[in-house]
Amino acid sequence: MTPPIPVKPSTLIPPYGDELVNLVVPPEAVNDLKAYASHLPSLQLSERSICDLELLASGGFSPLDRFMGQDDHQRVLEEMRLSSGHLFPIPVTLPADHGPAIHLDEDVALRNAKNDLLAVMTIDEVYEWDMVQVARMVFGTLDVRHPLAEMHRWGKLNISGRLQVLRLPYHADFQELRLSPAQTRAILAAYGYENVVAFQTRNPLHRVHEELIKRATQRVDGVLLLHPVVGLTKPGDVDHYTRVRTYKALVQTADDADRILLALLPLAMRLAGPREALWHALIRRNYGANYLIVGRDHASPGIDSRGKPFYGPYDAQALVEQYSAELGVGVIPFEELVYLPDENRYEEVSHVSSQARTASISGTQVRQEYLNKGRRLPDWFTRPEVAEILAEAYPPRHQQGVCIWFTGLCGAGKSTTAEVLTVFLLERGRQATVLDGDVVRTHLSKGLGFSKEDRDTNIRRIGFVAAEIVRHGGVAVCAAVSPYRVTRNEVRDMVGPEHFIEVFVDTPLEVCEQRDAKGMYAKARRGEITAFTGIDDPYEPPTHPELTLDTVVQTPEENGHRILAYLIQRGFVRADAGDTLLNEAPGLAEGNV
Ligand code: ADP
Ligand code: ADP
Repeated sequence: MTPPIPVKPSTLIPPYGDELVNLVVPPEAVNDLKAYASHLPSLQLSERSICDLELLASGGFSPLDRFMGQDDHQRVLEEMRLSSGHLFPIPVTLPADHGPAIHLDEDVALRNAKNDLLAVMTIDEVYEWDMVQVARMVFGTLDVRHPLAEMHRWGKLNISGRLQVLRLPYHADFQELRLSPAQTRAILAAYGYENVVAFQTRNPLHRVHEELIKRATQRVDGVLLLHPVVGLTKPGDVDHYTRVRTYKALVQTADDADRILLALLPLAMRLAGPREALWHALIRRNYGANYLIVGRDHASPGIDSRGKPFYGPYDAQALVEQYSAELGVGVIPFEELVYLPDENRYEEVSHVSSQARTASISGTQVRQEYLNKGRRLPDWFTRPEVAEILAEAYPPRHQQGVCIWFTGLCGAGKSTTAEVLTVFLLERGRQATVLDGDVVRTHLSKGLGFSKEDRDTNIRRIGFVAAEIVRHGGVAVCAAVSPYRVTRNEVRDMVGPEHFIEVFVDTPLEVCEQRDAKGMYAKARRGEITAFTGIDDPYEPPTHPELTLDTVVQTPEENGHRILAYLIQRGFVRADAGDTLLNEAPGLAEGNV
């Protein structure tokens, strides 16, 4: 990406707090710091914390220069401000658990999953935090379908202190597009425009987005910072490799390519809607933008477990506008844009007469109605170059992976039904792997017991393997009691919600106990085993399973056929001639398809 020769370099808006934070130690200090860190206790950071560290270190979160201490944290929750008074709507914390590495006034080496050294932190605060409070105040919800319900498995303490960062986290992909705030600013200044408008996205760009970008750039007569998030986005989103290919294709062919700078943002999104939008504005100011496009449903996590949107479509716009003057970042607001086929153009909904024909394709429809069915996206909706990249990355549904997750009490009939289903799948030419809770405990999870923690670990291990199978286009049939709702939802996110089918084997406890195929209930009643689900440990039934099975009235074969019919309906298995009858079976389309 070569910037144009500047007519006159422009002065960009200064970073928030006037100076870009830079936590990276000078090159000459690196070796000493490395040697010193080799004697320190280590703390491994999650992928999310590594994203946060990168933005702290490079100044993307300026003026914040550390994971938040308690005063900052509390004020951020209550007032969206740091203790200095600067706006900051999202808590950026480093969660940890009690352990040998966590000592007040001592240094700790921060490492990634491969144990590479990232930074040294001098711990000057260790404090407890309250997940429910954060969920309520920042996300406005306790709903477990919110992607940040993952907080329940974060450490129960937050640690804070001075950071000395060895180097910014390494990324092997798209290096030419990975620009720090300082690099982005230098290039933007060279474009010679006074205004810089940023566009945030976590989706492939279609013509509607091009229209937003074009209109915004013209409105402020400036340069566009096309700034897609490539850190963590919503589980199930199009992966960033595919997305970045579409961005590159677009920038190469856009009419106003000389006014677009494409750069990747290693942000870990929180999907916090309005608060997140304000955060996006603040971050983009640090990268040199003085405007942010905020359209409909900005940074939205979609719908909650009752099927209701978490946030109103324009709540994000309203909040950013409220703080726009103070933050120094203007909002370029857009209503929902729709396509007018008779005029071959896009328009905001309120400018469209009620008689006009309109067309739009939602993100869900892109996947379900087009890519999954192997149908090409229409030209009015997306550029052919982009359509081709997406078709290549997303084969039709019947070649995609899927996880069928059976949950229910011991003896409910999970394994029995799973086995029957697996045979039916093989009959249809789909390869399936069965991950049975009991079998997995003999190898993958050998040594794990039945405490809540061990059970969760077992489920996560199964989830991890299932997610890999699904990612490679296979079918994972999992049968494990999986008693806890939160953990099952976590697995749903690991696999990707659109590829996860939760099957609740709803057999009453009395029936399971009477069957007692493994003799476990008898042992539990005699007190020979404790913490047995249904007896002295809870089973939390799913609130919105895709399917619920009755094993008292229905046979394993009938249930197997029912699941197969559902898979055919969802497109994961191809229908053949004899399937019409199955598709007409009553009670098929239940749950949140
Ligand atoms: P995010 O989840 O971070 O908002 P998206 O890629 O979904 O990322 O959206 C990027 C931006 O484009 C957001 O500001 C969003 O409001 C806006 N946007 C997306 N689609 C439309 C649309 N059809 N009409 C208006 N604004 C839209
Ligand atoms: P789980 O995997 O849920 O612990 P299993 O499938 O191992 O349960 O055991 C269920 C027991 O119930 C088996 O012995 C099975 O033969 C019996 N059973 C009776 N009726 C049914 C049915 N309709 N569906 C599934 N299993 C049934």
